[in-house]
Amino acid sequence: MNLFERLNQELEQLRHQGSYRHLPVVPEGMVNLSGNDYLGILEDRAFREAFYAQLSDEAAQLSAASSRLLTGNTAAAIELERFLAQVYHAEAALVFGSGYHANTGILPALAGPKSLILSDRLNHASLIDGIRASGATFYRFRHNDLEHCRSYLEKYAKSYDEVFVVTESVFSMDGDCSDLKALTTLKHDFPNVVLYVDEAHGVGVFGERGLGVAVAEAVHQQIDILVGTFGKALCSTGAFVVCSAVVREILVNKMRPFIFTTALPPVNMAWTLYVLRALPKMQARREHLRKMARQLTQAIIEKTGSCVSTSQIVPYVLGSNEVAIAEAQRLQSAGFYVLPIRPPTVPAGTARLRFSLSAGITDEAFERLLAVL
Ligand SMILES: *Cc1c(COP(=O)(O)O)cnc(C)c1O
Repeated sequence: MNLFERLNQELEQLRHQGSYRHLPVVPEGMVNLSGNDYLGILEDRAFREAFYAQLSDEAAQLSAASSRLLTGNTAAAIELERFLAQVYHAEAALVFGSGYHANTGILPALAGPKSLILSDRLNHASLIDGIRASGATFYRFRHNDLEHCRSYLEKYAKSYDEVFVVTESVFSMDGDCSDLKALTTLKHDFPNVVLYVDEAHGVGVFGERGLGVAVAEAVHQQIDILVGTFGKALCSTGAFVVCSAVVREILVNKMRPFIFTTALPPVNMAWTLYVLRALPKMQARREHLRKMARQLTQAIIEKTGSCVSTSQIVPYVLGSNEVAIAEAQRLQSAGFYVLPIRPPTVPAGTARLRFSLSAGITDEAFERLLAVL
């Protein structure tokens, strides 16, 4: 069998399993319930124009044309990192090309030969890739089960220099949240625990100033590695970590997805900073989002008996692939762009629709959605 025959066979197998992926073309004019533009910034033309109106010539550059370590350490990057460190009350911040870069690079740079990693079973693929690439020993604890995590700590913490406990604040498939307060108590009981929290779906959405769940719960200063992304609620691209100065220094020296890649364009970093500065004023959008999320979650509980969401991501678990696909098509023909999520992205037998709400959805469109459901 030659290469192409083998590849075709693999694709055939994916089709057979119902897990074949393709790149969908998003139809125009539908209510988008599948994006991550949680605050409705993408289509806010006035906001975007106000950004361009104040943009300096230097900050308007469309490429950094270099890695941060060569000539890509622009004023925009320095200003953005200074701002992040300040609002998160952290010693330091570092910006990356994407959340994928961040999560695949941080643990390989930090983990040593005597590090252990404990990871929530539902952590994002980028975290899993970073954990694997670190080469460290790791165990996965049951989703949001800190007692299970604790049992690993009781057994193994003493045998390692440090134990990275890795989780997300808002989980992307179930829309449920981890208990960050409880997580920080692990540090009291096991002093060599290092907390790593990914706030990809929390930043922008939670807290009075939109800085995420950790700040909302006032535990951000106990989280050693706090990662956030700019591509979701902030409607930009890139990611950041807030951390200690020494961690930042190590990342600059050792983290391959930071070193061996072109820095983000200055115009992009300037936009990210502009959005970050505007976040405190977007409380009404967050309230609107939360209100819709509560109502949709309630509606799904009434239909199916349960829904674990406590965020703007609301799963509607239907079970079989066929039922999920049919329901997605029904909603799409009613004008709502929602996609079925199937195994292996989610556990077998839990095919679902995943509603990803946005503050840009009008009350009228939302009422219609509830009616169609
Ligand atoms: C989207 C996402 C990422 C990846 O971020 P990008 O900037 O899109 O690469 C990382 N972690 C989680 C939890 C995510 O949902």
